[in-house]
Amino acid sequence: MSAILNRVILASTLSLFTLVTSSSEFVRAQSNEPNPKTAISDSEYDQAVKLLSNYIKIDTTNPPGNEKLGALYLQSVLKVNGIEAQVFDSAKDRAIVVGRLKGTGKKKAVILLSHIDVVPAQASDWKYPPFAAEIHDGELWGRGTLDMKGMGIMELAAMLAIKRSGHLLDRDIIFIATPDEEVGGTYGADWFAKNKKELVSDAEYLLNEGYSIEAQSSGKAKYWGVDYAEKSVLWLSLTADGLAGHASMPMSDSANNRMIKALARIADNPPKMKLLPAAKQFFQSIAQTEASPLKELYNDIEKTAENPSKETEAKLAVDKLKYSMLRNTVSITVLKAGYKTNVIPAQSYAELDCRLLPGVTPEEFVAEVKQTINDPSIAVKIIEWEKGDPSPYDSDMFRAIREANAAEGATAPVVPVVVPWFTDSHWFRELGIQSYGFEPIEVDAEHLATMHGKDERIPLAAFRRGIDRLVRILRAL
Ligand SMILES: [Zn+2]
Repeated sequence: MSAILNRVILASTLSLFTLVTSSSEFVRAQSNEPNPKTAISDSEYDQAVKLLSNYIKIDTTNPPGNEKLGALYLQSVLKVNGIEAQVFDSAKDRAIVVGRLKGTGKKKAVILLSHIDVVPAQASDWKYPPFAAEIHDGELWGRGTLDMKGMGIMELAAMLAIKRSGHLLDRDIIFIATPDEEVGGTYGADWFAKNKKELVSDAEYLLNEGYSIEAQSSGKAKYWGVDYAEKSVLWLSLTADGLAGHASMPMSDSANNRMIKALARIADNPPKMKLLPAAKQFFQSIAQTEASPLKELYNDIEKTAENPSKETEAKLAVDKLKYSMLRNTVSITVLKAGYKTNVIPAQSYAELDCRLLPGVTPEEFVAEVKQTINDPSIAVKIIEWEKGDPSPYDSDMFRAIREANAAEGATAPVVPVVVPWFTDSHWFRELGIQSYGFEPIEVDAEHLATMHGKDERIPLAAFRRGIDRLVRILRAL
């Protein structure tokens, strides 16, 4: 155990005993919203802020990660609070923490998942240092406050609150924090699913990052978006072979010329729109929160998606994320050909990043790409396929989230979302665990841009509401 680690653990352990009386240094959450009864006390909230501050100060920038310090910190907090927790090394200085709060065992367990690593931060670009956890104007600043150490601590704080209340839940709560999420999960969730899956063999549900409560710039919630599915990832290579020759005598059917025409057809002919039942529910539920013309387009989404004009497409494309829910997508990413200006190369090569909606097979989509290219001389090959299994969106987890939403007056709808990115959830979906991406805090466009960007910070009022909501969701579940 390194000296620095000793310091971290000592500091955190001490803080657990001292912070209850030192609440004045923290900014109290001020909620403008109808706040029924909060699920956690002021001192529990103060403790959570302290835990998050300590956690942010542990630099887990990936690469290289060094998440073991974070894992040991979380383990120490769990243990001090009487919750069993184990740490497993997946590589040097990289580790996973798994804690379990026992319930009555009447129902199967629920997992609260988060990742310990964060993406790099260029300190000189930030208004306040990214690993100092400073509080300014009611917001806690630091890399990972939104993605996703903040959620990790909300999960931890919710668990501690339930433990303190003394009321056993029907389900065990399993707390898992992984390294290496930001670089693909080889030493994190992937490693866990391969080596320790017996620890979650009794789990039915999982809650993770993925989506959140979309908010207007005023902070008012528009809707609670719950990621029930992630698009599958399909990477394709395109290869055109031809004759090499001197560039002084052009060849109309050169490898490059054919490749350029093929790619132009792909760029000009996006896959047809496809409206999933969940997407229909999503767009119709949120239409009222949008301004024109999106309001009308979303409200009548069936008609919108049927045969959209270029003009309609342009209007929809303003919100790229929601637009991505309406079809399989293709991005042309890698282009390689040629080595000298006066030589026509014998080969032209390209790669495509395709993201497929749930239910679409790679074979089906490759056939579609070939049809669009309309040139059998170009070879299309699959170089990567990651299937994103959907979880049902009429499950007890959805019902529990709706209950928590109703406790606040149900002023913003709970809606299912398909996201175009990958999180650690897919490793657990593959194990048959129904997994959902939902950080229960309001995030507006400005704060969303700080994730993986500069000036990442979490409004503490939202952080507190997030813990309250998690407690309510777990109790309802
Ligand atoms: Zn993340």
